[in-house]
Amino acid sequence: MKVFKTVSSLQNYLTKIDKNKTLGFIPTMGALHDGHISIVKRAKKENDFIIVSIFVNPTQFDKQQDLKNYPNKLEHDLELLKVENCDIVFTPVANEIYTNNIKPDSFDFDGLDKVMEGAFRKGHFDGVGTIVKKLFEIIKPNTAYFGEKDFQQLQIIKKMVARYNLPVQIVPCVIYREEDGLAMSSRNTHLTDDQRKSAPLIYQTLLKCKELFLEKEIDIVKKFVKNELENNKILKLEYFEIADTEYLISNSFKNKNKKYRAFIAVFAGTVRLIDNIALN
Ligand code: AMP
Repeated sequence: MKVFKTVSSLQNYLTKIDKNKTLGFIPTMGALHDGHISIVKRAKKENDFIIVSIFVNPTQFDKQQDLKNYPNKLEHDLELLKVENCDIVFTPVANEIYTNNIKPDSFDFDGLDKVMEGAFRKGHFDGVGTIVKKLFEIIKPNTAYFGEKDFQQLQIIKKMVARYNLPVQIVPCVIYREEDGLAMSSRNTHLTDDQRKSAPLIYQTLLKCKELFLEKEIDIVKKFVKNELENNKILKLEYFEIADTEYLISNSFKNKNKKYRAFIAVFAGTVRLIDNIALN
């Protein structure tokens, strides 16, 4: 497994790869868990070579404290990736990527970035678009893998790829969960024991919501979720939305021709957890 810290050393190596071989790319912020590793395994099966980036991107954090607290487990991450026979790891520092100008570009994502995560984390998706576009330009992968855990991010990346005609195929990957249903996340390590015990309520509520959605109006499903979370003393609901998967527009009425997903963000103390589920 080759590990590169600089753009020039990485690109120098990539030029030596046979142009007929496929390169699959998995962008991450490190503190890898089984969710990340499930994507690595899939990419490994579907490509001749794979590259994982580990980079905690400063421009996508709206709160400096959140950036400062983001877990860093580089040595452990490298060990995990070695076990998976990962071919290349890219672990740059911020100045290597942003050349001393750590600012996001601004994007037009046709409103996909204005709701949910975008509404509660100002500038987040400009930061995501900036880093993913830069990494695509540096690495030039054939395929890039993104988890449905961050479904809004996935749709925004697809929009960016279409808009800029980027020559990369985006591969969505299913959400990987703990046995009790909690979606795996690097942030889960910050949960106290009590918060961790309460956290599976998020997915349990989403599952009930999926059942209810088939029979009831959207507003009733929303009230149900609000109630479930209000009855829990440890979790605090930030938002719950039911939106179509293409435009991410919340609506009170169901259109039988559209696919819907439920999206939720919850605080357990200062730890912010997100999850989502396909409804139909
Ligand atoms: P992150 O390191 O949190 O930026 O995540 C890197 C990639 O892994 C993103 O495409 C995430 O959507 C994906 N990912 C994170 N957690 C999970 C999970 N539990 N299941 C599947 N994919 C995930």
